[in-house]
Amino acid sequence: MAFMSPTQKIFETLHEIAQGPLQKNARYIDESSSWPEENIQVLKDSKLSGLLISKDLGGHGEGYLTMAKACEILGSSCASTSMCFGMHLVGSAVMSAKATAFHQEKFLRPIAEGEHWTTLSLSEPGTGAHFYIPQTEMIQEGDSLVINGEKSFVTNGAHADSYVLSAVVPSESRTLGQFSCAIVPKNTKGLLWGKQWDGLGMRGNSSTSAKLKNVKVPVDHLLGNIGDQLWYVFEVIAPNFLVAMSGTYLGIAKAALKETTEHLKNRHYEHSGSSLASLQVLQHRLGELWAQVERARQLLYFAAALGDKNDPAAPISIMSAKAEVGECVVSVVNECMTLRGGESYGNSDLMGRHLRDARAAHVMSPTTDILRVWTGRSLLGLPILGD
Ligand SMILES: Cc1cc2nc3c(=O)[nH]c(=O)nc-3n(C[C@H](O)[C@H](O)[C@H](O)COP(=O)(O)OP(=O)(O)OC[C@H]3O[C@@H](n4cnc5c(N)ncnc54)[C@H](O)[C@@H]3O)c2cc1C
Repeated sequence: MAFMSPTQKIFETLHEIAQGPLQKNARYIDESSSWPEENIQVLKDSKLSGLLISKDLGGHGEGYLTMAKACEILGSSCASTSMCFGMHLVGSAVMSAKATAFHQEKFLRPIAEGEHWTTLSLSEPGTGAHFYIPQTEMIQEGDSLVINGEKSFVTNGAHADSYVLSAVVPSESRTLGQFSCAIVPKNTKGLLWGKQWDGLGMRGNSSTSAKLKNVKVPVDHLLGNIGDQLWYVFEVIAPNFLVAMSGTYLGIAKAALKETTEHLKNRHYEHSGSSLASLQVLQHRLGELWAQVERARQLLYFAAALGDKNDPAAPISIMSAKAEVGECVVSVVNECMTLRGGESYGNSDLMGRHLRDARAAHVMSPTTDILRVWTGRSLLGLPILGD
């Protein structure tokens, strides 16, 4: 057997999982709006939950580029599962960034061993897309942090083992980013989940709202220091989130393109015997769509590789890659639906699910509009946040 690097083995396992349980469960997950329990268990059993965890803690020690490709592979079979996986990975990266010995033993090792699933809980109804300005409050009482507030759209909501949650400490001045992050374990008293997620797309991601009523966690569950969350937002959360989501959306575009290519080859007219593939206008449009996807893919891989090298150009490239992949997936899937004809407008066709899943790319923060603004501000030498 040919030699395979550890990273190649990871991709091989991911392909097996994507073509196995993810393919099998995708339709059911979408139709029933069910969190992809079996898929997540397989990812945990394969120890892929530790993709970003350092090797000395039992993880794979992989970075942005592997994460992009991993989410692309999973996203091409089941976008909801890929989003749940991606948000777990981002959560694990946030935990790892300034992990104490306690965080390492209590959370990171179990994640690497496939025994712990986490997720990110930042967004709130009051501040919406401005996820970096939480209104949830956290105060210290003795050895505990007491948290009160409300969260919206928590991917993996009510299903994860822990929640990486943002909050402000009331005594601090409430300037942008003066907030903190803590780990809230599942079943913590006062963590109350809202009604089941019923999204247009990404219907399995269990993007659930939550209320926090006097939630108490030990002080050692704080990540980093009080008030340094802005560092987490731009150094850890944004780049990891953007790369994971870009991979997911790229996977959707790739699947739509593949399914459309097959359809063009296999659809034959009875009156002429010719296939759609023989029509020059469709050949031309397919060629354009392929180039659109490949352009977005190469930009994403390039940006992710810059991120792995800690290159100063990485933030702008990663922000733009996400915006470009977002534009690409919505446009490509939309066009694929046209190329596949009326049949693909039916609810039983895959294109409808792809289009609904793809649409999340523009509304999940940092949204495409916000990313364009952040990129422009960076190019102008302005602080990313501000007027
Ligand atoms: C499927 C899904 C999963 C999600 N998962 C998570 C999760 O796991 N964790 C989490 O914390 N959050 C999550 N979110 C929340 C998400 O990231 C956003 O915070 C949330 O969708 C914002 O919604 P809103 O309706 O309040 O938007 P609003 O804040 O009302 O924004 C509406 C529109 O205005 C635009 N806009 C607002 N301000 C600006 C500006 N300054 N410049 C340019 N445009 C602007 C936005 O881009 C958006 O298009 C998820 C959302 C979705 C849809």
